[in-house]
Amino acid sequence: MNIEEIESAVTKYTAEKGFDKMDLRAAMFDMDGVLFDSMKNHAKSWYHTMVHFGFTDFSETEAYMHEGRTGAGTINIVKQRMFGQSATEDEVQEMYRYKSELFNSLPKAVRMPGALEVLQQVKESGVVPMIVTGSGQKTLLERLNRNFPNIFRPELMVTAYDVKYGKPNPEPYLMGMKKFGISESRKFDNSIIRKNENSESLNSTPLSPNNFIVIENAPLGVQSAVAAGVFTIAVNTGPLDDSILLGEGANLLFHSMQELADNWPLLCSVLANSQSTSSSPSGAPTPNS
Ligand code: CA
Repeated sequence: MNIEEIESAVTKYTAEKGFDKMDLRAAMFDMDGVLFDSMKNHAKSWYHTMVHFGFTDFSETEAYMHEGRTGAGTINIVKQRMFGQSATEDEVQEMYRYKSELFNSLPKAVRMPGALEVLQQVKESGVVPMIVTGSGQKTLLERLNRNFPNIFRPELMVTAYDVKYGKPNPEPYLMGMKKFGISESRKFDNSIIRKNENSESLNSTPLSPNNFIVIENAPLGVQSAVAAGVFTIAVNTGPLDDSILLGEGANLLFHSMQELADNWPLLCSVLANSQSTSSSPSGAPTPNS
C-alpha cells in the first residue's frame, strides 16, 4: 500500500461524510479473525455441525460469510435455504451446543501474527485501542490481557452482553463510540473544563465517527462499521475474495495484520494530516519520504 492509496481513501471518506478532516481518537478492533486466528476453528466446527445435522449444503467458506451472525441466525438461513422453513428453538439449541463443544475441543486459537504489533503502535501513537466483538466468552478479558498485556481497558469493550442486535446492525460500533464518549466525559468531568458546561452534555461528549476507525475481517462486521459511519479498514485474514469486503464498503483493505502493522506509521500520518492541503496550516509535519 502506498501513501497515495491511503490518502485517496481518507479524502474520499471525509468528503462523502462531510468532515473537514479525520480527528482520530480511538481504534475499534473486532476480535475473532483480527486479534486471534480463531476463524478456522469456527468455520470447521460450523461445517461439521451442519453436516452432522443433515445440512449438507454448507461449506467452510460459507461460515466466513456468516461470521458475526448469531448461531441461531446462521442455522436459520441454512435451514430456510435447504428445507424452506425456520429451525425450531430446540434444534437451534442442540446444534449450537454441538458446535460449541466441537469448537472447544479444538486447539486454542493463537494470537494473529502482527496483531500485538498493530496494537502497540496504535497505543504509542496516542490512539485508544478498543474491542468491539460479538463474542460473549466469560474469559474474554483475561484472555485479552494475557495475549495483549496493558492494551485494553475493560470499560472500553463492547461484547455480546452490551448489545441487542449485534453485527451487521451498526449497534455494536455505535455502542463503542458511546462508551468512549462516556469515558472521555468522566475524564473531563474531573477537570476544570467542565465548570461552565451544563449537565446535559455530561453523557454526550460530542464525538463523531471521524474520531474513530474500525478494523474488521468479516463482511457482516464491515457492514456494521460502515453503517455506523466509521472509516473501516478490512483485514482479509480468511478465504473470501477482497471484493466481498470492499463491496460491503470497506475504505481500505490489508491482507494481514502484519501488513497493517507495517503500514501503521504511514496510515497514522495520513490520518493526522488528512485536512485538505488547501486549508491546512503551513508547517504541519509531513511524513518522511
Ligand atoms: Ca471477526
